[in-house]
Amino acid sequence: DGEVLHCIGCGAAIQTEDKTKPGYTPESALNKGLESGEVYCQRCFRLRHYNEIVPVGLTDDDFLKLLSSISATDSLIVYVVDIFDVNGSLIPGLHRLVGDNKVLLVGNKVDILPTSFKHKKVADWLRQQANGAGIRPIGVQLVSGKTNEDVDRLLASIDKYRKGKDVYVVGVTNVGKSTLINQIIRQSTGVKDLITTSRFPGTTLDKIEIPLADGQTLTDTPGIIQPEQMAHLLNGEELKLVTPQKTIKPKVYQLNPEQTLFMGGLGRFDYVSGDKKHGFTVYAENGLYLHRTKLANADEFYEGHLGGLLTPPTADNAAQFDKLVPHEFKTTVKSDIVIEGLGWITVPAGIVVRGWAPKQVAVLIRPAMI
Ligand code: GDP
Repeated sequence: DGEVLHCIGCGAAIQTEDKTKPGYTPESALNKGLESGEVYCQRCFRLRHYNEIVPVGLTDDDFLKLLSSISATDSLIVYVVDIFDVNGSLIPGLHRLVGDNKVLLVGNKVDILPTSFKHKKVADWLRQQANGAGIRPIGVQLVSGKTNEDVDRLLASIDKYRKGKDVYVVGVTNVGKSTLINQIIRQSTGVKDLITTSRFPGTTLDKIEIPLADGQTLTDTPGIIQPEQMAHLLNGEELKLVTPQKTIKPKVYQLNPEQTLFMGGLGRFDYVSGDKKHGFTVYAENGLYLHRTKLANADEFYEGHLGGLLTPPTADNAAQFDKLVPHEFKTTVKSDIVIEGLGWITVPAGIVVRGWAPKQVAVLIRPAMI
């Protein structure tokens, strides 16, 4: 009869269309809920029954409301980024919106970094990246929500920095925030039945509150959608082909000037000009197909093999894919050319290179991580 149903856990309007948005309930679960008279959204249902949280995303408008309600609190902000996609993890304007609250920066998915990478060095590098975005974190911590590496140290840091205050965990979608929160819930013994959902004041956004020892709470906020993420252009199958699940094995290619390297059909790297042959190190999903060719033949090769040899995109998705767009850089120091969400190529100083990606996806240069 057109009446809007609300989740009895968090109050979000129930909807069956979009898994990533608040209030999502699968059709079958909704029918069961209506029979029993208790309608929960999937997020609250899973939380009640399995103590497990499900990621949920939100767009600009809701996001601004969320951050402004956090800036009005006196709390510690735990800001989670994906170490594989730092730029794609940045929350625009975070530094203005958290107010005077301190920020603890968490580089998640450290398990995918090659074992030769020194965590201390990576953490320093991450701090510099944050500074470049106007964020001055009081601490930087590398963890893996997946393997549980250093999650205990993160909890100890949170306790040290929060000084009796509440904690808000923020991050864009796909950085692994839900996985990490689930680890935190598992490690916080005794909280099992105490986790609650409630709303941010003046919004329909649900938050999850996990009690801390001194009566304060750790609040998980909905993930913020970064529309420029490669992940939003890909279907589930393609996403698997580009998202590193295990430790990355760097691959070194010796390239002459005017040689090209395709990264599946989603990325392309040209060594345009330079003094001589150089080694270029590629950091990407271990199974991603890399193909070397002459720069002069690259356009034709791409036309002929997109969706075939050059996958992802898969054959059925290739037609709707925008052409790759070039971004040219002249390096002055050893740098990474980042194709956001796909990986990066470490290049030497003093040469000209190009990175290519679909037009929505950022390609950028940064000081080399290592
Ligand atoms: P959220 O949207 O930020 O809540 O992210 P999810 O927790 O749903 O994770 C997004 C993707 O990253 C999933 O494919 C996870 O398997 C993967 N992921 C999450 N945490 C980690 C991690 O610590 N290491 C690795 N390698 N992958 C992770």
